[in-house]
Amino acid sequence: MVGPPGTGKTLMARAVAGEAGVPFLALTGSSFVELFVGVGASRVRDLFADARKRAPSIIFIDEIDAIGQRRGGSIVSNDEREQTLNQLLAEMDGFDPTTGVVVMAATNRPEVLDPALLRPGRFDREVEIPLPNQAERAAILKVHVAGKHLAPDVDFDDVARATPGFSGADLANLINEAAIVAVRDDRDVVFARDIDEARDRVLLGRRDASNALLPEEKHSVAVHEAGHALVAFLSEHADPVAKITILPAGRALGVTEQLPVDERHLYSESHLLDSLAVRLGGRASENLVIGEASTGAANDLSGATQLAIKMVKEWGLSPRLGPIGYGSDGPGYLSGPLLGQERPYAEGTQQVIDQEVSRLLSEAEDRARALLSQNRDVLDAVIAALLEKETISGEDLTEIVNRVRSAGDGKRAGLGAPS
Ligand code: ZN
Repeated sequence: MVGPPGTGKTLMARAVAGEAGVPFLALTGSSFVELFVGVGASRVRDLFADARKRAPSIIFIDEIDAIGQRRGGSIVSNDEREQTLNQLLAEMDGFDPTTGVVVMAATNRPEVLDPALLRPGRFDREVEIPLPNQAERAAILKVHVAGKHLAPDVDFDDVARATPGFSGADLANLINEAAIVAVRDDRDVVFARDIDEARDRVLLGRRDASNALLPEEKHSVAVHEAGHALVAFLSEHADPVAKITILPAGRALGVTEQLPVDERHLYSESHLLDSLAVRLGGRASENLVIGEASTGAANDLSGATQLAIKMVKEWGLSPRLGPIGYGSDGPGYLSGPLLGQERPYAEGTQQVIDQEVSRLLSEAEDRARALLSQNRDVLDAVIAALLEKETISGEDLTEIVNRVRSAGDGKRAGLGAPS
């Protein structure tokens, strides 16, 4: 079984054994690997001997990558691990199909597994267990709230929408954190706002007094976040703004959160361009309102640059480079087996890529700046609201925009409701 951590691979293996009604022998891969050479191999022998004695039975090896890594690929060899893996391969080869022993394993790094493990007769079926989608998250949440008192304002679909990328284990943790928030507040009922706070805590870290901001820092964070939020609001293809806050949490000084209306699998070019403008909106706002940018935009800049590089190099969205995709460099670009590998294009192409990335970024910044300066009165109102309330919702933002717009003479261009 292949899938990200926390998606329920172990639960799935247990459920299989439960359905089959046979003995279930579970071990983690790391428990085989010992300091002393030969111990792991003898553990593998014992495990299979035990399984044969109790057949029909199921062996489940969690984190198989701990022993099943590609042999001879790394610079430092690990005799113990290789012996353990060889023993595992030998045991699986010696299987008589009539013994009735089924071997299952789980990993979140299938790419590091030794190819010999995946040959017919060994682990020859791959079951992918992906992260849950929105509807599945809602269903998983319903399982984890069993036994907890929920207020009627908790809407599972809303929570599922706000938790893209959460695994089953993350969702269980979210519900536990929400219960802790409620208990701290002397309540035995969990409200929607508790789940909201728990989510921020899980995603961003805990909020406490030690990371409080200086007053002038607070102002520049408000300027920065208001810039992100207003560019998102004014960009037709950007995801709607759900929440803006200038309360520091974990390593983030402030957060502008956008939530997609539906879970997306494909992104259009116009969505990507708007997303670049939103990321650069914080810095554009600092430049416009304060007159200079701060170090607060470092994450935005690296995020925007990564996205622009993908647009040019992988998704064929640069007119100068044309419809060509070089794929991603991947994590091992400069290390591991790919050490010293050449990039698959000429030096001149690299220059065009650099120029195209820089063009996309400066166009996005220009657009963000133009949107903000055309709507400077709205921007100032959002900054003031953030300084006053510290956290405002997407609805508050819409309300501020409408209030300023109706107070003005209505001649401003470019104002529209988020799509
Ligand atoms: Zn930012």
